[in-house]
Amino acid sequence: MSQKKVRVRFAPSPTGGLHLGGVRTVLFNYLFARHHGGEFVLRIEDTDQTRFVEGAEEYILECLRWCGLEADEGPHKGGPYAPYRQSERKALYRQYGEQLVNAGFAYYAFDTPEELEAMREVEKARGNHSPQYNHAVRKIMRNSLTLEAAEVKTLLDKGTPHVIRIKMPENEEVSFTDMIRGEVSFQTNTVDDKVLLKADGMPTYHLAVVVDDYLMKITHAFRGEEWLPSAPVHILLWKYLGWETDMPQWAHLPLILKPDGNGKLSKRDGDRLGFPVYAMNWLDPKTNELTKGFRENGFLPEAFVNMLAMLGWNPGSEQEIFSIEELVQAFSIERVHKGGAKFDYDKAKWFNHQYIVKKDDATLAKLFQPVLTEKGLAPEETYVAKVTGLVKERCHFINEIWDHGFFFFVRPDKYDVDAVKPKWTPEKQAFFESWITVIEALPDFTFVSLEESFKQLATEKGIKPGELQLPFRIMLCGGKFGPPVFVIAETLGKEETIERIKLALAIFA
Ligand code: GLU
Repeated sequence: MSQKKVRVRFAPSPTGGLHLGGVRTVLFNYLFARHHGGEFVLRIEDTDQTRFVEGAEEYILECLRWCGLEADEGPHKGGPYAPYRQSERKALYRQYGEQLVNAGFAYYAFDTPEELEAMREVEKARGNHSPQYNHAVRKIMRNSLTLEAAEVKTLLDKGTPHVIRIKMPENEEVSFTDMIRGEVSFQTNTVDDKVLLKADGMPTYHLAVVVDDYLMKITHAFRGEEWLPSAPVHILLWKYLGWETDMPQWAHLPLILKPDGNGKLSKRDGDRLGFPVYAMNWLDPKTNELTKGFRENGFLPEAFVNMLAMLGWNPGSEQEIFSIEELVQAFSIERVHKGGAKFDYDKAKWFNHQYIVKKDDATLAKLFQPVLTEKGLAPEETYVAKVTGLVKERCHFINEIWDHGFFFFVRPDKYDVDAVKPKWTPEKQAFFESWITVIEALPDFTFVSLEESFKQLATEKGIKPGELQLPFRIMLCGGKFGPPVFVIAETLGKEETIERIKLALAIFA
């Protein structure tokens, strides 16, 4: 590794919600930066004005905040290489485009949209189904390679709309060492003459990403595998701009695949299979379409982050549960796999469950509070914490505390009478009536004393305690579920327990 201070970047385009693959890219950048005592930069790549979506940048920042993966520099807090929004750096890029033209590595292209369309039609008619502006085509188009220098000058002076395109070399091999994939090489003939600077003066992603990685002194560029086909263009630009020795080390992260391993996991798969794919809920301002997020689905950020770390990376041991500090310690980019990582929602839930169980009851109770508030309930915090502690082992999500423990907050509105009635007898009725008197007089109302007195009275009355416990449970919860029944009674307290026995007796009689 170079001696330079490690600087990495996450460079999203603000075009919509953040896919979990994007958050994983953030995470790997973050872990790498922290592991090496380096810096993590957030750069907003908003040069494609047609794809810009209102609110997307704020959403990305909020995601990073929620995950605890905030960048050290970025549009939210500035930094030594500001501005961090490419649209605000617009004036900067043209000089590099011109430098490339002057050095013969790029050229001005004046083709109008109609001319480009006509070229495509001709190519298609000749059997070329995906026509590109490439080394063959550029020789017959209107650009500074085919036009006389004087004419080019006149066109430029007149302000004729034009773009700058890279002049991809013919029959060359471009190769580089990817930190995950090893040696990767491309044939330049397969790559078209990408636009570097658009007619509106904005750079395209290709030019801007190279210029900014250079100016922002980025040492390692980690991004999704979908950017691999663009790598040769970027490598050549680094070289053509004379910055080759400063080029970052690359790593292209594996895709996150559908659960069946068949292709990239998309937001539509989430809708189809019923799980979130975005980090947080995303409401598309154009279509009003809501895409569900992990946050709103009840994931704890620590669990979400831990789960993401294991998608495509492994620590080389059996350990699966990692705090962020442990991840920082253990992370190495070389241990990221080449192959895609299948997304497994059950595993994601398992991670969340592990974190819920580990979390202290008071914190969980706070997280659960909104569910109670929404239901118009305001029990004491210590009571909520106690209940949380009793049911968390059964929960994969915070809101499941309600599903597994609602009866601690409200009386049952229905009883599983079918489970009681067929075996209900006047003796059992009498048992509970007497037991009420016994527990009213109990000096302490603990599950131990409750159980003891319950068993003692049952023995006295010649009924098996086991036959009374299920009815008792149904009296308190309404059904055959919940933690140990005497613990439920202790938690509900004397008055409420007695009240529930009475209410149920009236129904069972
Ligand atoms: N702007 C690109 C994106 O939206 C960044 C790719 C890169 O990291 O080079 O993902």
